Amino acid sequence: MAHDAPAGHQRAAGKPMTMSIPALILAYVVSLLAALSALAVYSEFRRRRFEPMPSEDKIFRCRRCGCVYTDDADVDRSRCAQCGKMNEAIEF
Ligand SMILES: [Zn+2]
Repeated sequence: MAHDAPAGHQRAAGKPMTMSIPALILAYVVSLLAALSALAVYSEFRRRRFEPMPSEDKIFRCRRCGCVYTDDADVDRSRCAQCGKMNEAIEF
């Protein structure tokens, strides 16, 4: 008895059916890279936000007219914008 092979017997042994595997790997790598870059951007953003602001202004309050204003952090005294009196910075 010769064994009866089915009619739709198309093994196609020489052709690899792995066309989706490189695409899968590519998608995996791309998603991994995207996640990594997103993490890097997020950590950079967070680190930058955590650092103290270098240009934090000092707050001054005029003793003569009561005007409240701000000036650079590296100055100890600042002139009032209203009356021109020199005032000391307010310490918190
Ligand atoms: Zn003033």
